[in-house]
Amino acid sequence: MENVVIIGTGCAGYTAAIYTGRANLAPLVLAGTQIGGQLTTTTEVENYPGFPDGIMGPDLMMRMQQQGEKFGARIVYENAESVEVIDGGFRITTGSATHEAKTVIVATGASPRHLGLANEKELIGHGLTSCATCDGAFYRNVPVCVIGGGDSACEEASFLTRFASKVYLIHRRDELRASKIMADRVLANEKVEPVWDSTVTEYITDDKGEMTKVKLKNLKTGEENKLEVKCVFVAIGHVPNAQFLNGLVNVDENGYILKTKGTQTNVPGLFTAGDVADHVYRQAITAAGDGCAAALDAERYLAELEG
Ligand SMILES: Cc1cc2nc3c(=O)[nH]c(=O)nc-3n(C[C@H](O)[C@H](O)[C@H](O)COP(=O)(O)OP(=O)(O)OC[C@H]3O[C@@H](n4cnc5c(N)ncnc54)[C@H](O)[C@@H]3O)c2cc1C
Repeated sequence: MENVVIIGTGCAGYTAAIYTGRANLAPLVLAGTQIGGQLTTTTEVENYPGFPDGIMGPDLMMRMQQQGEKFGARIVYENAESVEVIDGGFRITTGSATHEAKTVIVATGASPRHLGLANEKELIGHGLTSCATCDGAFYRNVPVCVIGGGDSACEEASFLTRFASKVYLIHRRDELRASKIMADRVLANEKVEPVWDSTVTEYITDDKGEMTKVKLKNLKTGEENKLEVKCVFVAIGHVPNAQFLNGLVNVDENGYILKTKGTQTNVPGLFTAGDVADHVYRQAITAAGDGCAAALDAERYLAELEG
């Protein structure tokens, strides 16, 4: 039986691997289908401490992987399909194997929702993103847009007014879904221009593949037009990747895993870290911090088990 199986190879999973590796627990890490997690989908990361000149997202994740492996983490390219409680621990079933472990750290992240338009995969990091805190500062004195009408869309739009020359707030309806205070604040900002009853139907790029315009459709009149923007911030929610746990742990109304004490879930020995349990901060450094905390909690739990 393994001491610890870590599910996920984003900032949370790799940091948990570094800590449990250094604690001689020989962690087994399941990589999932997105090896290195969300940061592998972006270009430059400017806010991860220790890299004053910035670092490319995939490079940062490669370094974390190497650091984990250096301390004995074993990374397997498997996707967890279920976790069940067994005598003395857990059984984790993947597409190709089963693993048994005394503790499990779930660090499976959350996937930002996108519109499902043709070229969006290639555009992420080239004018399409879902994180204003991460990418807002790259777009100074240029027009940008936010898609969405909830609290996070309003928060992102307000934040972006610090940098952008103009922030279009594109929403499917004729009023915001956000709380009144958030909606009033964003609409009072002179840099914000709401675009009501509209949806984006196409992302238009220049010949270098960078975002230049969005094509809009008015859902009431059917009218179409284009808007010049250098970046699109999609704020239509995230999906926490916790479905494979099949109700084993308690989650909130949006599916984010709930912690009871520290990083422990309602199931003793099952810990969680990173975006799968965090709909508030959603940053690389907070996910890494959580991964460290989950590793320390797992270590202490194992030490108590062994008396
Ligand atoms: C485009 C973009 C740009 C960003 N830029 C920045 C930035 O500049 N600075 C910053 O601080 N943050 C940034 N972020 C946010 C940051 O990437 C996340 O907060 C961070 O990656 C969360 O780490 P995580 O480990 O919780 O999850 P993730 O990075 O989402 O990793 C989840 C991991 O779990 C694995 N997984 C999922 N399901 C399973 C399963 N069933 N079995 C096994 N494995 C599974 C996946 O394969 C993946 O390896 C950005 C995010 C995006 C999308």
